[in-house]
Amino acid sequence: MSAPIVEFIVTGDEVMRGIIADTNTAMTASRLYPLGFALRRTVVVGDREEDIVAALRETAARADFCIVSGGLGPTSDDLTAACAAKAAGVPMRRHEPWIEHLHKRWAKIRPNEPIPPNNLRQADVPETAEVLGNPDGSAPAFAMKFQRCLFFFLPGVPREYHRIVQEVVIPRLLQPGVVLRSRILQCYGVTESKLDQMVAPIREAHPEVRFGFRTKFPENHLSLAAIAPDAAAAEAALARVEKLCREVLGDLVYGQDGVTFAQAVGDRVAARGETICCAESCTGGLLTQLLTEVPGSSRWSAGAFVTYSYELKETALGVPHEMLQKHGAVSEPVARAMAEGARARSGATWTLAITGIAGPDGGTPEKPVGTVWLAICGPGGTTTKLAHYRGDRGQIRMQSAYGALQLLRQAIA
Ligand code: ATP
Ligand code: MG
Repeated sequence: MSAPIVEFIVTGDEVMRGIIADTNTAMTASRLYPLGFALRRTVVVGDREEDIVAALRETAARADFCIVSGGLGPTSDDLTAACAAKAAGVPMRRHEPWIEHLHKRWAKIRPNEPIPPNNLRQADVPETAEVLGNPDGSAPAFAMKFQRCLFFFLPGVPREYHRIVQEVVIPRLLQPGVVLRSRILQCYGVTESKLDQMVAPIREAHPEVRFGFRTKFPENHLSLAAIAPDAAAAEAALARVEKLCREVLGDLVYGQDGVTFAQAVGDRVAARGETICCAESCTGGLLTQLLTEVPGSSRWSAGAFVTYSYELKETALGVPHEMLQKHGAVSEPVARAMAEGARARSGATWTLAITGIAGPDGGTPEKPVGTVWLAICGPGGTTTKLAHYRGDRGQIRMQSAYGALQLLRQAIA
């Protein structure tokens, strides 16, 4: 049996003109690929009836499933439902339960205003559509088969779209008697190709689990998806393969299933009843941002010294003036003094210091762009590390923040 063919149709002038990127399809495709679907084509069309109808008709003839994003809203540029009816050659109908739902929803949000009539338009769907609803919005998703293809029409708003894909569309795409169990192993410190190479023998020996690779700079993720006739078999296959992968990857795996790097490190610091404080130069607070975006981080994140200038490194962290003059800000002694100064002043268990040249200017032959000194100061003393990162300014800053966190991860391993 060959794999079902899946296509995507993305509607909207904003996507067409490059104002927003089509992250809806990217995210869904990366979920469907490991499930064994044949992902064949994505078509982007502007808000033009003729083009949307033509795209739907073409896909109806050649795909088994199609996910259509956008154009279900209440405004005049929202044409998708009417286009679906036209493409399938069926009239529109008003879905009364959704009218009721819209009235209730409106009364909750704006109790003192009547509902605008164009809002009710959102309950108009093609006659043969099955309304799938929308737990987070007012435009209902609907499914509809014509010719060969089962179409899923979803609102474009990413939060609404993704929830419906996850909760409604993916379970529908899987045939009855097919259960999926998946895991994402999140790695830091390994390139995508190396990661692929390391797990290749396991992948070849275990065709019952699909392997996928995703880069979330500077991390690389391995996704494992086991498909089996029942939950117990899927879970067993996944557990077996996950264990083998973890054995070869060792501590390159820092976490799983959506945890962030900062969260993984922070959780360990918290479990030890310890705290972190940062002394950041070229990252300008980026490391602290990564730490503090973790919910509950106030328990283990003390805060930061963001010291860009020589003066502030002296007054806020006590880095000696002569040291800065003699070695420059991007140097081992200064990184060390920043970490030690931050620890003495904050009382945190661990301090991480970052000083480097993020570019694009400011490099010299001895200290080219990407030269970064990192330091960690903790109960056992201070350790420093010289790194040479490649990439643009954003990438160098991000790698610097990760590099400093990695020092802490190793210190408390
Ligand atoms: P609305 O009720 O908001 O009009 P809709 O179903 O009509 O919803 P669109 O109008 O196409 O959807 O898109 C709504 C918003 O969702 C867009 O302004 C855009 O920010 C976002 N969006 C639309 N399509 C995509 C996409 N393919 N990828 C990411 N974001 C998208
Ligand atoms: Mg819209």
